[in-house]
Amino acid sequence: MAETCIVVGAGVAAYGFANAIREAGYQGRVVLFGAESVAPYERPPLSKQFLTGKKDEDALLFQPVSFYEERSIELCLGTPVEEIDLQRRVVRTGDGSEHGFDQLVLATGARPNRLPVPGAELAGIFTLRSLADARALRAALAAAERVFVVGGGFIGCEVAASARLLGKQVALVETLPVLLGRVLGPEIGAAITRVHERQGVALYLGRRVVGIEGQERVERVVLDDGTALPCDLVVVGIGVQPALPAIVGELRIDDGVVVDATCAASVPGVWAAGDVARWWHPRVERFIRVEHYDNALEQGAAVAKAVAGQPEPYVPVPSFWSDQYDLTIQQYGYPVEWDEVVVRGDLDQPAFTAFYLKEGRIYGAVIVRRPREMRPARRLVEALAQVDRSLLADPNVDLRQLMS
Ligand code: ADP
Repeated sequence: MAETCIVVGAGVAAYGFANAIREAGYQGRVVLFGAESVAPYERPPLSKQFLTGKKDEDALLFQPVSFYEERSIELCLGTPVEEIDLQRRVVRTGDGSEHGFDQLVLATGARPNRLPVPGAELAGIFTLRSLADARALRAALAAAERVFVVGGGFIGCEVAASARLLGKQVALVETLPVLLGRVLGPEIGAAITRVHERQGVALYLGRRVVGIEGQERVERVVLDDGTALPCDLVVVGIGVQPALPAIVGELRIDDGVVVDATCAASVPGVWAAGDVARWWHPRVERFIRVEHYDNALEQGAAVAKAVAGQPEPYVPVPSFWSDQYDLTIQQYGYPVEWDEVVVRGDLDQPAFTAFYLKEGRIYGAVIVRRPREMRPARRLVEALAQVDRSLLADPNVDLRQLMS
């Protein structure tokens, strides 16, 4: 009898898997269980073009349902997996039924952190992860004047930009001294901070929210210095946690499902991909977990090959972009520490390429309005190149010349 592969989750990583599994030659039964009632869709536009009304729901689906039927992939939507029993090798879904598997792919993604303050349960407070979240926020934005964003990471910055584009008054609070500081560091974070200031976002940096007040719905946000700021709605973007159902049996979990370089978990026949996976990256020589769209797609495809019997080390150069106002921020590389940032171009405008170096090697790059440098910058990161810093910093030197 043919074997069964169950995919837990029907998001971006699950789509990456579904799109590659038959090409990889797998002939077993494939079942995708998704908690949401919609087929896999693109998440990046949710905080951007979907919020501003430039893109509608129909444009978000990766593929119509017929795509899965044609490939004999069973798509079970609105069917959350509540428990995985690794000893009996079955999953139990929300309706109480059990489904046996030979191989299991964990593609469960992540869930947004909630704000741990009094008043966080009031109406008018939103997080943004799913299409349902985005629908609710879009409708609420239409009726709001004053928008308050908590968190200056990518979600917070993109929502702030979208709300400004919609003509709203926007305030944003971030605990770090600059926006995007966690990912981009202080210098590049400061450049993006200036963009938001010029666009009229009222920034409260180095501050945190201590409470949200209102009768039935949110009316004001209170900061740690006592400032009370009136608002009509609050969007919370303060990071995510890997999401997993209950698990019976031993599985190595440590800020995500820990997997090896081939995405294999500590239990044979169990794999993980996307935001939930912490894998051993042979080039970076450490475990990393990446929350980006490109990684979810590519890691899903890598797991498809592994399930079909051809596991290979998964060694990508992570890549990520963010659109804010008329800027695209493109990033390549690994979320590890660095000891130096070399910038070419103009941080103030901004139009620059920044390289993140550790012990003289290029581990990452961020490109803003220098699109011709995307490819060569990516290749320098891919090579973990060691190059002359003064040439790297000179915007008139062609980056392609620096590749050996
Ligand atoms: P996301 O994917 O939600 O954008 P990130 O981790 O990239 O997640 O960014 C979250 C940001 O929120 C970080 O810059 C972090 O410093 C900030 N943050 C976390 N908790 C708070 C808080 N209570 N108040 C304000 N900012 C916060």
